Amino acid sequence: MNRSRSPYLSTRIAFSLLALTFLFPAANPASAASWNVHAQPARLVNGGPLLFQVKPPQRLESLSGSWIGHQLSFRFDAKSKTWFALGGVSLETAPGSYALELTGETVAGKAPSQKVSFSRKFAVTRGDYPRIEVKLSVESKFTEPSPEQQRQIQEGQEVKKDYLSRVTPEREWSGKFAEPAQAAISDVFGSQRIFNGKTSSPHLGLDFRVPSGTPVEAMNDGTVLLARPLYFEGNFVVLDHGQGLLTLYLHLSEFKVKEGDPVKRGQVLGLSGGTGRATGPHLHVAVRWQGTYLDPAALMRLSLP
Ligand SMILES: [Zn+2]
Repeated sequence: MNRSRSPYLSTRIAFSLLALTFLFPAANPASAASWNVHAQPARLVNGGPLLFQVKPPQRLESLSGSWIGHQLSFRFDAKSKTWFALGGVSLETAPGSYALELTGETVAGKAPSQKVSFSRKFAVTRGDYPRIEVKLSVESKFTEPSPEQQRQIQEGQEVKKDYLSRVTPEREWSGKFAEPAQAAISDVFGSQRIFNGKTSSPHLGLDFRVPSGTPVEAMNDGTVLLARPLYFEGNFVVLDHGQGLLTLYLHLSEFKVKEGDPVKRGQVLGLSGGTGRATGPHLHVAVRWQGTYLDPAALMRLSLP
């Protein structure tokens, strides 16, 4: 009995599906469906770096994006046929839903090139950053600087203002970001220290517990943007990895590179120390992207093209 009914039923179902497709053609527009936009990591947090990967519906000549007030220039990875851009979410960004606005230009062929655009929203949640009670105090020259020290502080601020917001469009980094030293972590990014009951500004880097004289290695390929002593940072090396991404290495006892040098991931930049504002020898590394600090540990966890 079932055998005689089933062909009729399946025909009914097929007709119903066909009717639905005609009734709701806009429910799944082909153009939007074929943009594939993906972010890494799966959970985006304030202070976190991220990688956007985009597969557009047609071949593109160029692709750029706008993301929470930042401009992203995408690069094409021929192997995976995806466009990618490294970026981040500033620590000050409030949790919420933010749009990645994409604008591309199609490859000119029989038809002239045309502008295409697409937008996708991503949720940003609050990162879990610790609050730590700190008993240590720093020398008074850092809390009550003399006029000469104030001049040095001012000079350091001007150098940082001039160099640390630079954006070199070309990408120099390639593949994963590596640890600058093989050592235990003594303080994480985003932690807030409480000195004598007062909450200080958040820790904007990652601290490695290393004795003085430990080799400090480049986290990725790049160019030495700064290699000079500054008041708070001590002997300070900054690498420019391109696309607005910089890595910073503080409190070194010795430089092994000079400004303008090209470097490879793993190359020794200097030796660790306790110069500048440091409570003892350690390595403080920071990641800066288009003028905002990002979590170095989270950057090292991204798997990058
Ligand atoms: Zn630190």
